[in-house]
Amino acid sequence: MDTAEILSITNMSLPELEALCTSMGKPTYRAKQILSWVYDKGITTFDQASNLPKDFRRQFSEECRVFQTKVDTIAKTINSTEKFLVHLLNENVIECVLLREGKRITACVSTQVGCAMACRFCASGLLGLERNLTTGEMVEQVLHVKNHLLPDERLTNIVFMGIGEPLMNYDNVIKAVRIMNAEWGLGIGARHITISTVGIIDGIRRLAHEGLQVNLAISLHAPNDTIRSKIIPSNKKIGIKNIVTAAREYFEVTKRDISFEYILINGINASKQDAESLARLLKGIQCNVNVLPVNPVEEFDWKPPSQETIGAFCRTLKKHGLVVTLRKKKGGSVNAACGQLRLQRHKFLWKN
Ligand code: SF4
Repeated sequence: MDTAEILSITNMSLPELEALCTSMGKPTYRAKQILSWVYDKGITTFDQASNLPKDFRRQFSEECRVFQTKVDTIAKTINSTEKFLVHLLNENVIECVLLREGKRITACVSTQVGCAMACRFCASGLLGLERNLTTGEMVEQVLHVKNHLLPDERLTNIVFMGIGEPLMNYDNVIKAVRIMNAEWGLGIGARHITISTVGIIDGIRRLAHEGLQVNLAISLHAPNDTIRSKIIPSNKKIGIKNIVTAAREYFEVTKRDISFEYILINGINASKQDAESLARLLKGIQCNVNVLPVNPVEEFDWKPPSQETIGAFCRTLKKHGLVVTLRKKKGGSVNAACGQLRLQRHKFLWKN
């Protein structure tokens, strides 16, 4: 089924929905009423929108639907991270994750079915790219998470760090960000939304000029091209210096600090010398370095370094004046590391 043909509320901006109402001979104020039911009250079908006239609800549900995806499985960890396996209309499956850290409640969103970047620490890259997600398929991941929260919980953050490379699905991702940010949409502040990339140069440059106050996270994972191309094969075409140049330009335009993500892999990129080279590479950039020990993936032989090595790596960066955050491992215990639940599901389907 061609998902582009499915008319779904979650694919639409307010002006698009108003235009649909007009084309159906209805007043435009109905658009805001519908959006409020979907984004504030969490309805899943138009029948639940009880203050709308019955014939309008029936007519509208013939034109489009609220949800085009449905939750298949929710896997839980002891640290209250929850991973959602979500079915798309064409039987593809994707993942989104709910992360709880005190009052900070984050939805981690996938942007593609599979991924072409083939990062060597990531289960998603093993399956290759099948297709881009639509805007609605991304917005719905956040809605599934939001609708699952307890009554006293509130969604505070969204990160585009699930399966896929967001900047390779640029237009759909930006439209999704605008819907998530809009008052009539999910109402999440742009400064609470993060887009993560392996370093798609054109995408970083375009993003700088969108006028959005979102956070940019660049998955660097290495201090030079030799190591980076081992970890991220697509780096051979990109080049680490071009990424750092684009990051500097991004800061000049937006005045927003950049986060560099760095997964530590024992014996590959985690030595003190690697930290020294990284500090030289990032010299003068207004940034944070987020360090995370690698989540072991069954298919690869990479392991996280010892606590001692991790500590020495972070201390070296700090000595050079970099702001460093050591992130805790989240999700590994439910195979919630990037793409792993989906990969297991594929294995199950292949075997059965
Ligand atoms: S880490 Fe991200 S960009 Fe790399 S293969 Fe996995 S999903 Fe793709």
